[in-house]
Amino acid sequence: MNLDEIKGKLPAGSMITNALFEGSDIIFYTKNKNFFLESSSDVRDLVQMLRKRIDIRPDPAICEKQDVAAANIRKIAPAEAEVGEILFEPEFSRVIIYAKKPGLIIGKQGETLKKIKQETCWSPMIKRIPLIQSKIVDKAREIIHSESKYRQRFLNKIGEQIRLDKGSKEGWVRVSFLGSAREVGRSAILLQTKKSRVLLDCGVNVASVAERHPYLDIPEFDIEALDAVIISHAHLDHAGFLPYLYEYGYEGPTYLTAPTRDIMILQQLDYIKTMQGETGSAPYTSKGIKGAVKHSIIMDYGHVVDITGDMRLTFHNAGHILGSAISHIHIGEGLHNLVYTADFKYGKSRLFDQASMNFARCESIIMESTYGGAADRTLSKQESEEKLTNLVKETIKRGGKVVIPSFAVGRAQELMIFFAEMADKKEIDVPVYLDGMIWDVTAIHTAYPEFLSRGLQKQIFHQSNNPFINPVFKRVASQVERKKVIDGGPAVIITTSGMVTGGPIMEYLRCLAEDEKNTLVFVGYQAEGTLGRNIQMGWRDISMTNRTAGDSRSTVRINMQVETASGFGAHSDRQQLLNYISRLKSKPERVILNHGESKKIVDFGRNIHKIFRIETQYPHNLDALRLK
Ligand SMILES: [Zn+2]
Repeated sequence: MNLDEIKGKLPAGSMITNALFEGSDIIFYTKNKNFFLESSSDVRDLVQMLRKRIDIRPDPAICEKQDVAAANIRKIAPAEAEVGEILFEPEFSRVIIYAKKPGLIIGKQGETLKKIKQETCWSPMIKRIPLIQSKIVDKAREIIHSESKYRQRFLNKIGEQIRLDKGSKEGWVRVSFLGSAREVGRSAILLQTKKSRVLLDCGVNVASVAERHPYLDIPEFDIEALDAVIISHAHLDHAGFLPYLYEYGYEGPTYLTAPTRDIMILQQLDYIKTMQGETGSAPYTSKGIKGAVKHSIIMDYGHVVDITGDMRLTFHNAGHILGSAISHIHIGEGLHNLVYTADFKYGKSRLFDQASMNFARCESIIMESTYGGAADRTLSKQESEEKLTNLVKETIKRGGKVVIPSFAVGRAQELMIFFAEMADKKEIDVPVYLDGMIWDVTAIHTAYPEFLSRGLQKQIFHQSNNPFINPVFKRVASQVERKKVIDGGPAVIITTSGMVTGGPIMEYLRCLAEDEKNTLVFVGYQAEGTLGRNIQMGWRDISMTNRTAGDSRSTVRINMQVETASGFGAHSDRQQLLNYISRLKSKPERVILNHGESKKIVDFGRNIHKIFRIETQYPHNLDALRLK
């Protein structure tokens, strides 16, 4: 059905002045104010039939003047909503209203929002002002807003392509592993059909120098022929190489969640800075990062979106980090259903609900297996928390400091919730310092509370107790402040990088490792070859660079207590991975394992085959598998 035919199904007098595609959505502009306000029931059947979102927007001619509309909005919105900036995007007949309490602008059953539409005749979009100000959130929003003219053309072009490029029942589906096969890092999988080429993730391997980037130089990968990119979550090993595509000519869309987009920018900016510092060059510049933001298409969990003529994407909660998604891809009209888990946690954490597994159909599943090894049983959440509580109490009692290397994203916030609770219960009376990127990432968590677990949302919204702004936390933002923490009294220090590969942790380790009163606690995955793994395995004499003294090198003796509390992990352990397969609503015909160390993956794969009697594959990089 083309747009004119769809338009023909709208009621007489709907006064449509423009009809167009915007990505996967269909947009109608109307000059009939009543139709703009009351059209939802008229289009419901069409939405059902077409399985596409339809948005009715006011024709610019009937929108109220911007200054009058803004004044009206401020009058209608209750004061407690704390309205901030109001921005207009005439290209979309849209007004963006920033507020501290967005729910109050929507009102009971959408009453307030309806009134705004009625009085101003603009399409309102409400966005949350984060509790902690974040330059990155502001910057991402600014790029999107300032590029709205470009984005309108871009979304329209994407929409036309999807519509013109119809899939068929016949055909084939295959995946090629450009990275992340039998390794933890540089996730990049090319999904191809006769009609489409979609890249699942585009990451780097931060633990490797020689094999840092995915194999984008193979013949079947052509940047210009790529239709879409899907980014599962913001960790560098899944999103760290995305800007490279935009730097070198890709102009298509990247599908991701809003928090993934914001956190990803932080990580990528930090990555090019680190690479410049370490090797004198970076694989891309901020131009590539801006390109990725400009071409991003934001998805919410549960929304079904056509991403190419023959692929329909739905994101589901992965329970791994803020905004992390499991992708369900419906290919052709029922030809094949692929689930790409990327990193996921099938177990409860304080931050997120456990990963979702309700897929109506799933013939193939590509599953991460970071902790698929036979010995990979992590401590339970409770065991870990008890262990950490005791370690912290003992260390503080003897006048020491607890140093916790942590990823800035996910683990750090999980720890924050734990320490906020300790502080509320008065179990800890020393400051918890946050160093590295952790503060900024936490700020992004306060911008998107709806992505947090139900329990945490309840605590934030109904008990006004937001753990992220607990006064126990102190930010360390400079070398001078870091020195003060090092020279100061007992404290907990949560700092990047998580695998002790660089960042402020190096300085803390250099200065605090020799004092046996202190404790180093590993809470996350330590990849092969990283300093974190070596220390965990028992190395005690470490050669380190002193960045504050002309980069001189010296050997540091680790006398501090070294411990591991593994239950804070954001990945599923072996048993949880097995549980996930067994509880999938639709039993897959084929399990493909990636994102795990080679030995573990082979053992785990054999195990899955033995238990479930389903085809199990664990490809190498550059292998291509035919799914259909
Ligand atoms: Zn991850």
